[in-house]
Amino acid sequence: MNLVLMGPPGAGKGTQGEILSKRLDINTISTGVMLRTAIKEQSEIGKIAEKYINDGKLVPDDVIVSIVKERLQKPDCAKGFILDGFPRTTAQAEALTESGVKIDKVLSLEVADEAIIERLSSRRECSKCGAPYNIISNKPETEGICDKCKGELIQRADDVPETIKNRLNVYHEQTEPIKAYYEKLGLLVTAKGEDKLEDTTSNVAKALGLEV
Ligand SMILES: [Zn+2]
Repeated sequence: MNLVLMGPPGAGKGTQGEILSKRLDINTISTGVMLRTAIKEQSEIGKIAEKYINDGKLVPDDVIVSIVKERLQKPDCAKGFILDGFPRTTAQAEALTESGVKIDKVLSLEVADEAIIERLSSRRECSKCGAPYNIISNKPETEGICDKCKGELIQRADDVPETIKNRLNVYHEQTEPIKAYYEKLGLLVTAKGEDKLEDTTSNVAKALGLEV
């Protein structure tokens, strides 16, 4: 199955991508990793991308799409793939279609903004060992202190409500319109992201027509 996975930051896309990757025995392909690899391998298109980055410019959509296409033609994608973090804009989605890459389904994980803000802003991590906590669902024994190493628990700058709201707005403005594009092509399926991981996993399976 050639799958595009989309959803707002904090919706659990990474986790569901991993679960689907194991279940379907296909790789998750992330654009960031792809770009770095193409540059490292100094492929023709990798060299072009590197020039934009070195000049301090954004890598244009057609270059990114070429890199994605090159990556998806590798043997480990023959059985299918899960694209995570791409396309990010309708222009990229259109360019991907025009490049001839075949997509079977686009799965959108749906979680309300308020739930994401609550979920992410309750995350903490140990400032010494990096162990993850959540002040609602995964509390430490002593407030503010790591169970494992007694380090101080901190909130990452990314997880402050203001920052989360900004990231959600970028998603709604730039990425969410892709849903309408893929819906017109008859490829869009949606799954509700729930508080419990197993509930989300079963919603995802239903949306993709897999056995629950
Ligand atoms: Zn710790």
